[in-house]
Amino acid sequence: MLFAAVAALVVIIAVVLLIVISSVTVPAPKQLTLESSANTQILTWKGKAKKISYQIFRKNGDTDFELVGQVEEGGDSSFVSSDLTPATLYEYQIIAQKGHGEKVRESKPKTISAYTLPETISGATAITMSKDSLTVSWTNAQPVNGYELKYSTEQDLSSTEPIAFTPDDAVTNSNTGALNYTVPNLTVGTTYYFSMRSFCGEDVYSEWSDVFSGTVTQAVDMTGIDINKPMVALTFDDGPDSGPITDRILTALTSAGGHATFFQLGQLCERYPDVTKRIVDQGSQIACHTYDHVHMGDAVTTDDIIRANDAIEAACGIRPNAFRAPGGTSTDLIFSTCTSQGQAIYHWSVDTRDWSSRDADSVVTEIQNNASDGAIILMHNIYDSTADAVERIVPWLVEQGYQLVTVDQLIQAKTGQPPVPGTEYHSAP
Ligand SMILES: [Zn+2]
Repeated sequence: MLFAAVAALVVIIAVVLLIVISSVTVPAPKQLTLESSANTQILTWKGKAKKISYQIFRKNGDTDFELVGQVEEGGDSSFVSSDLTPATLYEYQIIAQKGHGEKVRESKPKTISAYTLPETISGATAITMSKDSLTVSWTNAQPVNGYELKYSTEQDLSSTEPIAFTPDDAVTNSNTGALNYTVPNLTVGTTYYFSMRSFCGEDVYSEWSDVFSGTVTQAVDMTGIDINKPMVALTFDDGPDSGPITDRILTALTSAGGHATFFQLGQLCERYPDVTKRIVDQGSQIACHTYDHVHMGDAVTTDDIIRANDAIEAACGIRPNAFRAPGGTSTDLIFSTCTSQGQAIYHWSVDTRDWSSRDADSVVTEIQNNASDGAIILMHNIYDSTADAVERIVPWLVEQGYQLVTVDQLIQAKTGQPPVPGTEYHSAP
């Protein structure tokens, strides 16, 4: 009997206490969640719709909590935390409040934390920088813990397993600050598709990047070239001639251990395939200067370029990866055609005006006055006077310490990578 009375009393006291406590305390928000993107986090929670307001505090790193917002009504609530730094850990504290002025009562703080997502990688490229490989290059401002890269010869990468690597596995380009990661053992001439993402924390991933692609090109043969010594690229347009002029130029180059680039017409390569082959056999670079030189500058058509590439390839087995427009202009059409044909676009930094003077002395003087490290020198392999000039200027250039290189070699030496299709070069810095 006594036991029952004590028990009843205990229950009554407990109930009374519970009623008193619940009228004094303010319930903390329940079912607190945090959803993150790169620059925004959304907090949601369930509360009691009884004139309760919520104060939201935020911090990252070692800073103090800072009041960033107040949600007035109770019930199911949310708060958007915006203008955040990607790949950063933010911590939140939410306190429920009831009453006004001095009578305000607060709940215990409820905390939650999460990383914002790393920024989605954009503008990444893939080009050949070393043999049988593509080097993926991207910029990423945030410190992240790692990357995942998917690649395939198929454009659809949805079922491709990614490879993972750390920032330490990537190489930073000291000029641009871009990060480089090389995918080895690929097939020359094949196009590969890529997508990548980064992660911070343990497993907080950015979105996958848009798919980008790169075609494995032949790495530039740099045999015998010292990239730290001066060099010039002699270039010859409008040929080949029937043989005598081009052969004299090739002989002069061979005796100096040098090479040049020949921007030739498709039509003449068709007519003189043996001369075209001798250019390639000498180790010089065959390049495209339209099919028949009829359309100049703005008037150059896609067909002028592609038909020439076909004719040159048929003549010597090499499809040119360099283009120069008659007149030296570039247009949107030239950019897009050369990009799709895998061709860089070349202008020049030294114009010998050999076509105008037809005078060897004048050509020699132009080059002696204007040659400098990285120069691209314009001539034409269709004039006897140009062959005369080449026979004199080649030994002079060698004497001055210049290496005679192709435009591919010049760009590889001076930029550290092969020429990029669709890109214009006037000289090498
Ligand atoms: Zn021309």
